Amino acid sequence: MERKKFSEPKLDTIEGLTAKLIELNGKLKESEQARTRMLENISHDLRAPLTAIRSAIDYFMEIGDAEAIDKEEIKQLANLLDKRARTLEVLVNDLYYLTSLDNTNNRFKFEEVPLGAFLEEYFFSAEIDDKYAERELIFELPDDFEYMVNMDVSRLTRVLDNLFTNALKYSYPGAKIELGAYVPTNEEIQQNIEDGKDYITFYVKDTGIGIAEDKLPYVFERTFMVSDSRTPETTTGSGLGLAIVKGIVEKHGGRITCESKHGEGSCFRVYLPKL
Ligand code: ADP
Repeated sequence: MERKKFSEPKLDTIEGLTAKLIELNGKLKESEQARTRMLENISHDLRAPLTAIRSAIDYFMEIGDAEAIDKEEIKQLANLLDKRARTLEVLVNDLYYLTSLDNTNNRFKFEEVPLGAFLEEYFFSAEIDDKYAERELIFELPDDFEYMVNMDVSRLTRVLDNLFTNALKYSYPGAKIELGAYVPTNEEIQQNIEDGKDYITFYVKDTGIGIAEDKLPYVFERTFMVSDSRTPETTTGSGLGLAIVKGIVEKHGGRITCESKHGEGSCFRVYLPKL
């Protein structure tokens, strides 16, 4: 039998493959580092309230036998325990929600929904919510905005909840929070998404404290908090909110972007595939 002739791999192909491998390796390292950072952050966030709870319990055990118990002091300690336990609850619930997004048994329930009506309904519920009383809420929708998108309503409601809660948390009374939607130009799509498909956009924009430029690339990372003082008194979030938002949007075949200026405000845009 005659030997088959295999063509020698061309040098430029090998170089191309090597470059691809180096690139993939770099991405792998990056995601490994992000994972390590996430674990470090989560361990830190779990440890801080646990330490406080442990010392309060130790104190209770010590004074258990004492005759004179200062009621005021007990009240203060109970409040502290309550706060720390809440911090833990938020963190554990968000962590569970985030990991369940990757669980294939936990399927999304997609249905075709008019995006404009969905956003409007959310906006009206926020408008009557007392917690937004000191913010100026604005709704911006083009006339005849009749676009349908395939969505899991409860999950996209969670996206809006997280974006609105952040707009509230990271702004001062009197700030504006705007919800809107529009059809992006091809140019805008190309700038943000490479696949050349058609998208429809909604956004949540605020005139809050904004995010420093060097911190922007990390806001969607799991458990990234911009504030360096990660004290439970000042932060009520788990640092997982935007990672959850990103996970849900990507399960819809969409993308999320963030533009922000320190001291001026932020705008989160969600691109969803157009039907
Ligand atoms: P957190 O629980 O800390 O709010 P998120 O994942 O929701 O976690 O947000 C990550 C970080 O991004 C926040 O700690 C905050 O510093 C920053 N951030 C998110 N949304 C906004 C916003 N609308 N304005 C300013 N900063 C924001």
